Amino acid sequence: MSPPANTVNPPANTVNPGGNVARQHPGPLLEVRGLVKHFPIRGGLFGGVIDKVHAIDGVSFTVDEGETLGVVGESGCGKSTTGRCILRLIEPTAGTVWFDGLEVTAMNRQALRANSRAMQIIFQDPFASLNPRMTVASIIGEALAIHRLASSRTQAEQRIVELLETVGLHPDHMRRFPHEFSGGQRQRIGIARALAVSPRLIVCDEPVSALDVSIQAQVINLLEDLQERFRLSYLFIAHDLSVVEHISDRVAVMYLGRIVEIASSKALYRHPRHPYTEALLSAVPIPDPALKRKRIVLGGEVPNPIHPPAGCHFHPRCPHTMERCRIEAPILRDLGNRHHAACHLND
Ligand code: SF4
Repeated sequence: MSPPANTVNPPANTVNPGGNVARQHPGPLLEVRGLVKHFPIRGGLFGGVIDKVHAIDGVSFTVDEGETLGVVGESGCGKSTTGRCILRLIEPTAGTVWFDGLEVTAMNRQALRANSRAMQIIFQDPFASLNPRMTVASIIGEALAIHRLASSRTQAEQRIVELLETVGLHPDHMRRFPHEFSGGQRQRIGIARALAVSPRLIVCDEPVSALDVSIQAQVINLLEDLQERFRLSYLFIAHDLSVVEHISDRVAVMYLGRIVEIASSKALYRHPRHPYTEALLSAVPIPDPALKRKRIVLGGEVPNPIHPPAGCHFHPRCPHTMERCRIEAPILRDLGNRHHAACHLND
């Protein structure tokens, strides 16, 4: 996809008291429409394209200002690719992404760079995403320098101190290197780096998956505090439904490159309408011993995304498969109250 030059202006640089750019557009903050990403597979004598991986196959959703949309699914379902395509760290094959009324997928390089201030990412492995040769001050300072957010060295240092305190670290930590920190502290540095440019949306790509359970809760609490303080929106990607339940307003469940169900967190956990969501939920421990949920064990592995099954992608593993499921792909049907599910059982 080659975006036409100068079709999109960078967002206006008005700053609200929280530090981030003021709202420009009355609709959803983020709108993803029919996003597709196919990775070509090359081979043969001349290295031509011989096949493709269907990483994302027509994903659509919105995220409102101040909202958290959780995205869950097994490894390889396309959730991280979705996050990266939204930020254009990976170029989508088709579909559009709109942020505050501007089409991100049509932005030229200059507009994309300006927009990157408003859309940030936190990665799963904080160690791999932090340059081991840079001090914390350089890591956070780099983000400030790229967007010219400090007019002097003193001002940059003041901002770095403020950011470290905001994420629960000590100002003295700025002189240290990433290897001197624990996993949880490194994730806090990653969060401080993302916050440095006062974003409005943060793609949290499995931000707690690599951390111990007790540390996971601390980082999630921090993200919630920051959301309230700075009115942030999150796209919170995780493979575990129990992680996203607490933090998400709504949850989208992905399977083999498609969203199979999307609903408010409460509705999805109490009244799932897709057999795959039911199976995922059945594996989530329930704190109340009086409540019992029958464990649904899915047979087989996630099918190969190079040749996904025809019809409903889930049919080879679904306990309710009908003849129709093998032929006809179910559409994501509106079930009311912003609850959508893609299953013929809902017809
Ligand atoms: Fe199962 Fe059919 Fe529903 Fe797919 S459409 S989830 S195979 S019942």
